[in-house]
Amino acid sequence: IKHVVKSTHTDETTRLAIRLGELLKPGAVITLEGDLGAGKTTFTKGLAKGLGIRKNVNSPTFTIMKEYRDGRIPLYHMDVYRMEDSGEDLGFDEYFEGDGVTVVEWASMIEEQLPKERLDIRIHRLGDDEREIILIPLGEDYIVLCEELVTG
Ligand code: ADP
Ligand code: MG
Repeated sequence: IKHVVKSTHTDETTRLAIRLGELLKPGAVITLEGDLGAGKTTFTKGLAKGLGIRKNVNSPTFTIMKEYRDGRIPLYHMDVYRMEDSGEDLGFDEYFEGDGVTVVEWASMIEEQLPKERLDIRIHRLGDDEREIILIPLGEDYIVLCEELVTG
């Protein structure tokens, strides 16, 4: 199953992400893939807003993980761009299995450590303002979540 959603403006991507943030439950894991400038951080900012986080969310490239606790559910924002999947246990499970929502940018870098049930999001840049957002739900909970997201 996959859903393809077109976005023609930054705000449209933000709106979709806010709605997703509103629907997410504790323990959710979201991965974001896309080239630099595709909109991964833009999407995460919207998602954070949907979780009720007021703090500004920016890319955690240099810190790998940033934690936001002022929303409805904690948000763990990871950017693993600089990591290699050595298979070494780096303690990600603690976040994936925790009560927060984990968003992983460049998740393919740690493919082997990701939980099987999750929502994979791929963003393709089609033009200056045009994006194709592909939602790939893995597991029943995420299939239901995506149905709600795209139909609601
Ligand atoms: P990434 O984290 O993937 O490197 P960013 O979210 O930091 O990307 O940057 C995406 C840039 O593209 C932002 O400047 C954003 O305003 C712009 N942009 C233009 N159109 C869109 C769109 N439809 N959806 C998302 N971002 C868009
Ligand atoms: Mg980014």
